[in-house]
Amino acid sequence: MRVGRPVKAVPQPHCDYCGARAQLAQFGDAAYPYRDDHGAVWTCTPCGAWIGVRPRSKHNVPLGRLANAPLRDAKSRLHDMLEPLAEAKTRRDGISVFEARAKAIRWVAAELGFDPLPSSLHALTLDQCEQALRYVEVWKAHRHSG
Ligand SMILES: [Zn+2]
Repeated sequence: MRVGRPVKAVPQPHCDYCGARAQLAQFGDAAYPYRDDHGAVWTCTPCGAWIGVRPRSKHNVPLGRLANAPLRDAKSRLHDMLEPLAEAKTRRDGISVFEARAKAIRWVAAELGFDPLPSSLHALTLDQCEQALRYVEVWKAHRHSG
């Protein structure tokens, strides 16, 4: 356990599942969810939910909403499904893979009429992830058949 002054962080996100304030955990803290150092993470221990912070964020701005195991799983499936599209777009348009991933998420979200439009995969709810997975699956099937 690290001992020290509480980390000042703005904004402090809330856990979507229980409504409690998330706690910031660093590699080495008891609440830190990973075995390796993936940077600071906002966690809700009772819910088993967490989310990382934006790279180089001085204020530990969360990447999105806290995610429990089912949401983490859905996000990872959606990421895998969109990754070939993002990589193709990277080659075709000469943009970074990060930009291409963000564009892919915004494309699906716009097609499905999500409001507000998510800035990244990490902003999606479980329900939105599942809608997006179904949408991309159907879209890919049509594209390959036609
Ligand atoms: Zn919680």
